[in-house]
Amino acid sequence: MAPPAHAPNAPFPAKRKGSMEKSDRIITIDGPAGSGKSTLARNLAQALGWSCLDTGALYRAVALVADERGLTPSQASEAGALAASLDIRLYVDGSETLVVVGDRDVTGLIRSPGISSLSSRFSAIPEVRGALLGLQRSLGQKGHLVAEGRDMGTVVFPLAGLKFFLTASPETRAGRRQLQLAREGVFVDPLDILSDIEARDYADSNRETARLEPAEGAFHIDSTDMSLFQVETIMIGEAKRVFGP
Ligand code: C5P
Repeated sequence: MAPPAHAPNAPFPAKRKGSMEKSDRIITIDGPAGSGKSTLARNLAQALGWSCLDTGALYRAVALVADERGLTPSQASEAGALAASLDIRLYVDGSETLVVVGDRDVTGLIRSPGISSLSSRFSAIPEVRGALLGLQRSLGQKGHLVAEGRDMGTVVFPLAGLKFFLTASPETRAGRRQLQLAREGVFVDPLDILSDIEARDYADSNRETARLEPAEGAFHIDSTDMSLFQVETIMIGEAKRVFGP
């Protein structure tokens, strides 16, 4: 199922402690929910022969397990301790990121609308963010990584060689999300998707820690009237300009 360890998108190793080192061969993609970050990060990584990191999956995994253990987002220190204790692994498998906590595959469970909104609330907790910071940086230590999330270029990889900030109108993002869910056989009222996206935009942009905002020097792309292919072409062109062919 997962590619061999030497492949560009090989499984990330088990949780390791790590500090950040200057590695300019990192590309960050930040942006709001539904802006196409995950697909674009995967495709860009594949085009460059690099790895990719979906950091939203880490926050979703924490939210899922916290919820299963009866924690609420008001229990900051318990949630932080839980996040620090979890063994979360990500495996890129074709167009999907498989998410494993301990020995349990939670890939499907973490994508539910309930976990989307809970992950936004748990991710606002500084203790949770602190607990996941070392893991994220350790995964970037060797460089050759495309990392996507909300604070990749601002907090996690401020020394990245290329930073993107992706946006699109909430309606466009909700439409894309609905299509993606429908392809997975999940049918959700489009208005529910739109209100979830707007609520998460608000929460992610107004929290105290690591709020969603463009990193200094980030290359902005508004994909409202663009196809993902068009955005991908711009990103690959920019990556080749910065890092060489
Ligand atoms: O990207 P995705 O929608 O899967 O992320 C789920 C939630 O995790 C987001 O709504 C956001 O609140 C949080 N998140 C974050 N920082 C990141 C990635 C995701 O706060 N780097």
